[in-house]
Amino acid sequence: MSGTRSTNGGKNRKLNTCSFCGKSHREAGPMVEGADDVFICAACVELCYNLVREERRRNNKTRAPLKAIPKPREILEFLEQYVVGQTMAKRALSVAVHNHYKRLAHGETATEEDVELDKSNVLLIGPTGSGKTLLARSLARVLNVPFAIGDATTLTEAGYVGEDVENILLKLLQNADYDLDAAQRGIIYIDEIDKIGKTWNNVSITRDVSGEGVQQALLKMLEGTVANIPPQGGRKHPEQQYIQMDTSNILFICGGTFVGLDKIIRKRLGQKRIGFNEQQSSADEQRELKQLLAQVQPDDLIEFGMIPEFVGRLPVICPLEPLDESALIRILTEPRNALVAQYQKLFEFENAKLEFTETALRAIAEKAQKRDTGARALRAVVEEFMLPYMFELPDLKKNGEYRVTREVVVGEEDLLAPGRRRKESA
Ligand code: ADP
Repeated sequence: MSGTRSTNGGKNRKLNTCSFCGKSHREAGPMVEGADDVFICAACVELCYNLVREERRRNNKTRAPLKAIPKPREILEFLEQYVVGQTMAKRALSVAVHNHYKRLAHGETATEEDVELDKSNVLLIGPTGSGKTLLARSLARVLNVPFAIGDATTLTEAGYVGEDVENILLKLLQNADYDLDAAQRGIIYIDEIDKIGKTWNNVSITRDVSGEGVQQALLKMLEGTVANIPPQGGRKHPEQQYIQMDTSNILFICGGTFVGLDKIIRKRLGQKRIGFNEQQSSADEQRELKQLLAQVQPDDLIEFGMIPEFVGRLPVICPLEPLDESALIRILTEPRNALVAQYQKLFEFENAKLEFTETALRAIAEKAQKRDTGARALRAVVEEFMLPYMFELPDLKKNGEYRVTREVVVGEEDLLAPGRRRKESA
C-alpha cells in the first residue's frame, strides 16, 4: 500500500487504535497506518483480504456446477477403505449422502412445479470410538467438500456463556478457505448431540437448564436458514460486519452415544432383558444392545429428551455397533491409514523393518477394550509401549528388523534388546 507506514510504537501512540475493530495497539499488535490517522490491525487486514478474495471468486465464476455425484456403491467402496465394520451405517449413509447431493444438483435446475426433495440430515447413534466422526470425515473426503466438526456440549443459546451455534458455520467457512459457495455445500458433524436432550441431568449451569434453547438454535441451521456469521468468531456485537451463510444445502450429521436409549426401546417393545442375571457376558450385552438400537424409532429419541422438531430434521438414523476385539484387530491393520502401517512407515524412514505378531495385535486390542473408549484407545495403547522405542529409533543401526510380540506389548520384553533383533547389519 503506497502512502502507508507502520506506526507501531511510533509517536502517534494515542491514535493506535484499529479503525475497523476498535482494538487498541496493545490488544491487536502492530498496525498499518493510512491517510488521516486511519489504522488497521493485522487481524482486520486478514479479514479484509479474505472478504476481497471471496468477492473476486464470486465474480470470477458463475456458480461452480457440482462435480459428478458418486453413486452409493462408490461411496460405500470408499468408506470400506477407512471404516471397519458398521456395515448398516455405511450403506445407509452412502444412500443418504448420494441423495443429498442429488437434491442439490436437482435444486439448481428445478422448475416451480418440480417435486421438492427434503434434506436428509443424518443421526449417528453409537458408543464412543465406534467411528461416528470417522464416517462423517470420510464422507466429506469422498465428496471433496469442506468439513467441520462441532461439539454440542460447548454450544449455548445466545446470551449464555459458551460458543454461539454460528461458530460451527464459521469453522466450515474457514475450512473452505472462505469460499462461501463451497462451504454452503459442505458437511458439518455435530458430536455429543445427545447431551442437549432435556433429560440430560448433567447440563452445565452456565447453559439454559433444559438444553432446549440449543436444540432450537441448531434446529434453525438444520432446517436451512441464512445465518449471520461473525467473521472473526466470538460473540456477535451490533457494529460487526457479518458474512451471510445459507445453511439449506449443508449436510448436517449429528452423532451421540445416547446412553440409556436401549432401555427406552426395550420398554416400547415390551421386551424383558434377556438373560438378566449375573452371568450375562459382556458379549451377550453387546449383542442385545446392537439388536435393540437397530430398532430405534424417532419416538424413542423424543422420549430420550430430543425435541420432536429436531428429531424430525434428522430423518436418517444410523445405529453403529460397539466394536468387539476382532473389529479392533482389523482396525489396527486393515484401513488405508491403519496404525500398524503408520508405525511401519516410521520405521521404514529409518531403514528399519517392523512387524507385529498376531498375539501382539490381540494384546493391543485387549488392552484397548478395557479402556471402554472403543477404537479411540488403540492409538494411546500403541503409543504407550512404542514411545521409548521411537525415542531410540533414529540412533539404531540401519537395516534392523524388529518384531512386536505380546510380551513387548505388555512390557515383559524389550523390542530393541540385542537378542530380539531378528537381523541386523552394520
Ligand atoms: P466416535 O466419533 O464414534 O467417538 P471416532 O470416529 O472419533 O469415534 O473414532 C476415533 C478413532 O478410532 C478414529 O480416528 C479411528 O482411527 C478409529 N476408529 C473408530 N471406529 C473405527 C472404525 N469403525 N473403523 C476404523 N477405525 C475406527
